[in-house]
Amino acid sequence: MRLSRYFLPVLKENPSEAQIVSHRYMLRAGMIKQQSAGIYSWLPMGFKVLKRIEQIVHEEQIRVGHLPLLMPTLQTADLWRESGRYDDYGQEMLRIKDRQGREMLYGPTNEEMITDIFRAHVNSYKDLPLTLYQIQWKFRDEVRPRFGVMRGREFLMKDGYSFDIDRDSALHAYNRHMVSYLRSYERMGLTAIPMRAASGPIGGDNTHEFLVLASTGESEVFYDSAVTDLKLGAREVDFDDRAAVAGICEEFTSVYARTDETHDEALFNAVPEERRKVGRGIEVGQIFYFGTKYSESMGANVVTADGSRVPVEMGSHGIGVSRLLGAIIEASHDDKGIIWPEGVTPFHVGIVNLKQGDAATDSACNALYAALVGKGLEPLYDDRDERAGAKFATMDLIGLPWRVTIGPRGLANGKVELTSRRTGESEEVSLEAAVDRLTQIYAGV
Ligand code: ATP
Ligand code: MG
Repeated sequence: MRLSRYFLPVLKENPSEAQIVSHRYMLRAGMIKQQSAGIYSWLPMGFKVLKRIEQIVHEEQIRVGHLPLLMPTLQTADLWRESGRYDDYGQEMLRIKDRQGREMLYGPTNEEMITDIFRAHVNSYKDLPLTLYQIQWKFRDEVRPRFGVMRGREFLMKDGYSFDIDRDSALHAYNRHMVSYLRSYERMGLTAIPMRAASGPIGGDNTHEFLVLASTGESEVFYDSAVTDLKLGAREVDFDDRAAVAGICEEFTSVYARTDETHDEALFNAVPEERRKVGRGIEVGQIFYFGTKYSESMGANVVTADGSRVPVEMGSHGIGVSRLLGAIIEASHDDKGIIWPEGVTPFHVGIVNLKQGDAATDSACNALYAALVGKGLEPLYDDRDERAGAKFATMDLIGLPWRVTIGPRGLANGKVELTSRRTGESEEVSLEAAVDRLTQIYAGV
């Protein structure tokens, strides 16, 4: 993409409505525009990152055998009356009447609808296990929408629903989700720590929230610093091997990490003092095993191997897709702007032309652009007739992890400059070497 042809409405001033850095940078970098409280348009660059995050979520869900589908945003009140949640849900639910006077709602989540799909089509244990998921807009009429996309009213969520014949299989589905989430967050350059969450009336310890540590997070968190060193990495996991998957979950959940809702002072005090940390975190996902809560009330039964009928065991598993943009920026920025992790960056590399209109410089930029595209990379070429300082400031603000700077002086020695946004370090290399380095970097992402 050439910047001269792109739509990147960068703001010079800090918008006064933004209280936290991610909101500020998303507005300044022209990624989003607020349309009303907690409701945003996604401008091209914001939309691009949103799509990259979605893509990672899809790949990791499909890798573990979960099936994507798409349900509507509008649902009927009647469906929610079956589970009893229409009256329970309260003010957060946006209730709507259509022209026939039928009561509808904009879905805040989809347990009822997925249970309705399940009961219409699945009858036998032979069709299980089954996990269906979607990435779809949700609406919750939050009292205090704030922090930009972090707490929106309309927001994008991945919501997955697992169906199993018995409790052990349902717990395996839970564990499979935990591991797939850990991998998804790592690919986004994040450390998201699974923390035991409050399970409410259902009991047990079968719900975890995933928290990204950040001073602006809304949850207070207590953890053993050793938990931040845990990495799933690229290890091969056999997702049909229940013990292996459970083992990974054990590895990530046996180190103390809890939110204030589940914090246990005595257990925390057993952690060596120098590793005991109190901080704040952003909830970027939650998994939940709730058994037969919806299947019983809505009549979603399956025939077992011995011919009896039992309500199906269910869980629901969510990722805050649009909130993740804010969380990633909170975790990765400096005073000049965003620093995108390679896994989610809107463009792989920025090309800065130091002397637009100089024939040799223009042609080197064009050659680099073509070579990168040839390697499957997406560059953003700042071909505007602007001062170098302004071009650098834009690149720093929008946070592409790599920049190649090309000017007449370097070119005289056959060199361009390759700069890391994260470290600020630059190297003088040939154009070909820059292409090789970038290809290698992104091959590993
Ligand atoms: P919170 O406690 O932050 O209100 P929640 O626990 O009500 O969230 P869930 O029902 O667990 O939310 O939804 C799954 C995920 O969707 C959350 O982990 C979060 O990342 C995201 N999410 C929830 N509410 C919002 C919102 N208002 N704006 C953006 N993302 C949200
Ligand atoms: Mg939650």
